[in-house]
Amino acid sequence: MKKARRVLLKVSGEWFSGANEKGFDEKTFESLAKTLIEAKRKNIQIALVLGGGNIYRGRELASLKIDQVSADYIGMLSTIMNGIALSNFLSSNECANNLYSSFAIGNFVKAYSKEEAEKTLIENKIAILVGGLGNPLFTTDSTASVRAVELNSDIMLKATTVDGIYSEDPKINKKAVKYEFLTFDEAITKNLKVMDQTSLCFCRDNNLNVRVFNADSQEAILEAITNESTKIGTLVRLKND
Ligand code: UDP
Repeated sequence: MKKARRVLLKVSGEWFSGANEKGFDEKTFESLAKTLIEAKRKNIQIALVLGGGNIYRGRELASLKIDQVSADYIGMLSTIMNGIALSNFLSSNECANNLYSSFAIGNFVKAYSKEEAEKTLIENKIAILVGGLGNPLFTTDSTASVRAVELNSDIMLKATTVDGIYSEDPKINKKAVKYEFLTFDEAITKNLKVMDQTSLCFCRDNNLNVRVFNADSQEAILEAITNESTKIGTLVRLKND
């Protein structure tokens, strides 16, 4: 029997808030729920890593003179709030899921372990992974790459608000070119601001492909999740062959 495709989808907090600057957007939740249900029907195993930018990002608190480490604790807690909201929303829409935090948070959120998360995936439920890595000074991009490798995912999908990786910021330079493929080394050397460098190095060293794509429609997310040979967005990989 063919092995089920397993993907790690990183969803930023910014994306959760839809057109609003902060908080949750019901339409975004609804659209994500429909996509996940459809992908599950196609037997795709999906782990989600959630960001927290729609509530707090550690670096945004620097102006309040909160030290970086404490600010990052607040950032990690923001990802947990997103997880509680999404998990509950998915459950009420008959999309089976389990929520895991990388650090102890109370009886209402399970503690993450690779074994438990894998069991959830094999049972065709969504594994929602929050709390980042449980360590300040990291991002949820890094969390996504670590969890993707740990859970033997076929690919890491980074859902963003741009349709891939460009040579320069396309909003500033109209001549900026969009890459269909890029190597990790190219992305690192050119310092393309699409994923943090720690995460890029980790993916390179563990040969984990990353697809960066625009999650502006249900179809795009479903395509990225289900179609191994899709051309949407940019595929970052070890070698261009
Ligand atoms: N964070 C952290 N350690 C981690 C992951 C996240 O300290 O392993 C904190 C950090 O402050 C970060 C915040 O949680 O700014 C939210 O994560 P991120 O900025 O990656 O969220 P996104 O921009 O994807 O919404």
